[in-house]
Amino acid sequence: MATLAITGGQLLRPDGTIARADVLIDQDEGTILELGDDLAGTGDATLDASNALVTPGFVNGHSHVAMTLLRGHADDKPLDTWLQEDIWPAEGELTPEDIRVGAELGLLEMIKSGTTAFADMYFEVPEIAAAVDTAGLRARLGHGVVTVAADEAAAREDAQTSIDVARELDGAADGRISTAFMPHSLTTVGEEYLDEFVPKAREIGVPIHYHANETTDEVAPIVEERGMRPLAYAAEKGMLEPEDFVAHGVHVDESEIELLAEAGTGVIHCPGSNMKLASGMAPVQRLLDAGVTVGLGTDGAASNNDLSLLDEARDAAMVGKLETGDASAVPAEAVAEFLTHGTADAIGLDTGRLEPGAAADLAVIDLDAPHLTPPHDLVSHLAYAAAAADVKHTICDGQVLMRDREVQTLDERAVCDRASEHAAALVDRAAE
Ligand SMILES: [Zn+2]
Repeated sequence: MATLAITGGQLLRPDGTIARADVLIDQDEGTILELGDDLAGTGDATLDASNALVTPGFVNGHSHVAMTLLRGHADDKPLDTWLQEDIWPAEGELTPEDIRVGAELGLLEMIKSGTTAFADMYFEVPEIAAAVDTAGLRARLGHGVVTVAADEAAAREDAQTSIDVARELDGAADGRISTAFMPHSLTTVGEEYLDEFVPKAREIGVPIHYHANETTDEVAPIVEERGMRPLAYAAEKGMLEPEDFVAHGVHVDESEIELLAEAGTGVIHCPGSNMKLASGMAPVQRLLDAGVTVGLGTDGAASNNDLSLLDEARDAAMVGKLETGDASAVPAEAVAEFLTHGTADAIGLDTGRLEPGAAADLAVIDLDAPHLTPPHDLVSHLAYAAAAADVKHTICDGQVLMRDREVQTLDERAVCDRASEHAAALVDRAAE
């Protein structure tokens, strides 16, 4: 058994309190063996965490990781215009190799900002899975289905691809990859395809993940056509089960909040993307008060524009206060949960808690910085003051993915250079 000791740090415990503790990891099993006062010298290898906060690796509940290639390509437009004028034309030109390269860039950024697990909706998913395998993270991956504007054969093939990908990749990368069926949204996938393919997802036993109630433009057509709220429609289609999770949930009314709470379906809050696209403010405190499992996601890099969950955490707290007019809403403790086990629970991955027997997925945050001084309250620092560049070490499944800011599993310079080349060629092709 190979072991790794992380020594000298302050630990974020599952109950949200902070305690001085070392961590001993079984690297073969990828689990935490022991937490203790003095485990220095007990591991085959050691990582220094003195003057550092040791937290569970952060969990990103909703991303489109290969969209890093479109970061900064088009900004400052509303969702519909942005998608139709800029994003979809460029995405139409993406090759499988582009997606591999874009995913590697996204995963590099995730490792450098302390993220060890994420849920991702995109296409060419085997390319993303290969990048995850190499980079060493944990993920729930799925193929996003869009049937509007497609003929019936193409639409059915797209939906079948999402089922096939979910079946074939589940358990890949030594079990670090899980999957889901991912219809893009309730307005971009036709009802007949939901009727046919939702039962297939249930047959193979994977969750369903989709965008819901992101903008008012997504809510109004469903209310007009069906005389019901979008999430009532989702429930009718069998898409509101405890293992399912929706992205955004910005424009949800009280009846939908109740539905989510009763169903146990998770909501992934993406405040950065919602603010940038002026989509609105999700009623996060009301979701929490109702008992809904809330997670945090960055959404794609083209609408954020970075993949750092520490930025997202601060956004979540700030927008939660603004939305309610109450400074006590979405407090630092809630945000610390969003970063860790809250989101892990929402997307159904067994991570996000530092305790014996749990997955050895950790981030070590260097506190030796002016903006993290003085150390009155480290949970406050995590929510309001820490930044991606403060993450010193990242560990997933017991493996060190980043040591002293040096990523171990990807060649940072080569990944960035390749991504810039591919992104420039992609934008040129889209403009032709
Ligand atoms: Zn999204």
